[in-house]
Amino acid sequence: MPETSVSWTRRGDVALVVIDNPPLNALGPETSRALVAAVARSEADPLVVATVVTGAHDTFVAGADIRQLGGPSTPVGERATDRIDLSDKPVVAAIDGFAIGGGLEIALACHFRIATARAELGLSESLIGVIPGGGGTQRLPRLVGVDRALEIVQSGRRIAAPEAQALGIVDRLVDDPAALEETAFAEARRLAAAGDLRRIRDLPVPGDAATRAETFAAARRRADATKAGNRKALHAAVEAVEAACALPFAAGMARESEIFASLVGSPEAKALRYAFFAEREARKVPGMPKLDPAPRFAAGAVIGAGTMGSGIAMSMAEVGMGVKLVETDMDAARRGLSRIDATYAASVARGSLSADEKARRLARIEPVADYAALSACDVVVEAVFEDAALKRAIFDRLAQVMKPGALLLSNTSTIPLDLFVGGNSRAADVAGAHFFSPANVMKLVEVVDGPQTAPATLARAFAFARQLGKVAVVAGSCDGFVANRSRAPFQTEYQLMVEEGAAPEQVDRVMMEFGYPIGPFMVGDIAGLDIGYAVRKLNLAKDPDFRTLPIADRLVEMGRKGQKTGAGWYRYEPGSRKPVSDPVVAQVIEDVCRERGIARRAIPDAEVLRRPLFAAVNEACRILEEGMAVRPGDVDVMWLHGFGFPRQQGGLMHWADGIGAAAIAGQIDMWRDALGARWQACDLLRELARTGNPFSSIESRWRAKP
Ligand code: NAD
Repeated sequence: MPETSVSWTRRGDVALVVIDNPPLNALGPETSRALVAAVARSEADPLVVATVVTGAHDTFVAGADIRQLGGPSTPVGERATDRIDLSDKPVVAAIDGFAIGGGLEIALACHFRIATARAELGLSESLIGVIPGGGGTQRLPRLVGVDRALEIVQSGRRIAAPEAQALGIVDRLVDDPAALEETAFAEARRLAAAGDLRRIRDLPVPGDAATRAETFAAARRRADATKAGNRKALHAAVEAVEAACALPFAAGMARESEIFASLVGSPEAKALRYAFFAEREARKVPGMPKLDPAPRFAAGAVIGAGTMGSGIAMSMAEVGMGVKLVETDMDAARRGLSRIDATYAASVARGSLSADEKARRLARIEPVADYAALSACDVVVEAVFEDAALKRAIFDRLAQVMKPGALLLSNTSTIPLDLFVGGNSRAADVAGAHFFSPANVMKLVEVVDGPQTAPATLARAFAFARQLGKVAVVAGSCDGFVANRSRAPFQTEYQLMVEEGAAPEQVDRVMMEFGYPIGPFMVGDIAGLDIGYAVRKLNLAKDPDFRTLPIADRLVEMGRKGQKTGAGWYRYEPGSRKPVSDPVVAQVIEDVCRERGIARRAIPDAEVLRRPLFAAVNEACRILEEGMAVRPGDVDVMWLHGFGFPRQQGGLMHWADGIGAAAIAGQIDMWRDALGARWQACDLLRELARTGNPFSSIESRWRAKP
């Protein structure tokens, strides 16, 4: 018999049921069965008048065990939630920590909910592509109304206990966690004495059909607009809440269960679950120590107040850190601050930031020109031009002024760390922290482990990124690291296909149908086409054989630099950001191809999608082969959070697993013959193709430092 993770003890006339499944008391079928048995035991014990259900480890239940989702499910009517709800003696939920997903559903099945003020509640199922399947969509609308219930189910957000109390989800708050159990016992006795069972199932859903119709329509619009890859789940949530309104409770529960079952095995839900686990795994780096307590960074500095430096400074100010913003001189530093001011002002104008919060954030950023001002800082992020000699000079300076124990980070996007900190006395304190543009928005921070980076430095860099609310993923210190390096061939291919016959509109449409919120040429117009142009000219000056992009070059030379000039790959009406197809671009493409004798052909949509992505998969395999990334999932997390890869596809490598290494390697061989030597399947891809093993099975070649 597996050991039960639910204990039952009688204390006087109240039974205490403790769910204990460390670390977060995730619910599996076993826990559910044990809860059913615990309720039955309370009912059968004549000395017991009521039951308190709580969780061990300072938390209630953080959700169902996602690994067991999709397995055999207990029939409606026999689940823990059904059993608690129908108990003839009151059951009180005593909540500390998290009551999320299945955890909140257990609490909603109870007859009274007490929470500590620090507790957090929520129904997060939609984030992994399903709906609450334990009555959440049927009970919550009865408690808080259709509008709020849908907002909670669709957003999947965490609700702090005081808000949950204001909404009526929590009946009573206790400030002191130590008083939780005792208060729950007192409430349990009170309910028992009053014979008060307060079952949510017996409540009517508030509101009338007319107002609900508007609420459902709004919720469907939210579902259509989602960029989180969970559109089906958001629509399903509406359907389930409609059932709560239209059907008696038991029939609504059966409907919820059917809808849940229709989602849980879908490719989207599998991809979203995969992404969820990949994100959790990415926090684990072989050899990286766990720092206890986790470091907190209060005083920070950023060197270079350009595009990236200002965004990084904003990210730091946003979480309350003080920031010294260092430039070449005071004027430049002040200009940096004005740029930040202008960005914040735009947010205030849009209504996404209050004027007060803007003032608070700005007050945290201090322009400086003297490195002496950095001596008290806990962390510094260098974001000057991408120039190894300049970066070396700056890190030499930082080594002198930064206090012992300070964390030294570089935002370089391509340069291996040893090229500018090799020989630096503080090299052990230096890691890469590669933010993505715009740095105050994009969640990814690629943490680069240099040859001399100390394991504790890596851990501190992770802690810093997390403090900023970012997603940190480790990368080895090679040219371009992992994210940009795996994406470079993707970029080459979609550009070359336009020479061969695809239209930018076709490429953008195919990528958007795949799930990208916006196509790569549209992104180019936002970022500005002149940046890539300048880089290509530099490369061409260094290497006359450098393969330039004549169409993109021609557009820039015509003054079409993207949205900022009203035209790029598309044209833009004055004041509009909506890309409009432009016959001029089609003409440029035709002209350039004719001049260069490039034969154009119709390229099928499948090739438009697969060529850039297969090229990236092959490069990612090379990166894994070299041990520059820990695992395929890390590549996926980088693509999700650095490049807006569609979450419903899981990630680059998860998507590739849906196709299989053999098919990919075979196609790459054909493209090598048709398109040239840049197509070479790497050894690891060939190995997978030969063995039939999935990408997810790739074993780590990451070399942990001793
Ligand atoms: P940028 O040109 O916008 O800004 C660089 C800033 O550094 C300028 O304001 C410049 O005045 C300042 N600077 C130069 N020398 C300095 C010195 N000695 N002391 C203090 N400040 C100095 O460049 P950027 O796009 O912000 O890129 C900065 C770094 O971030 C580069 O290493 C780049 O590779 C990396 N990066 C850029 C992007 C991107 O999309 N732009 C993305 C990720 C990483």
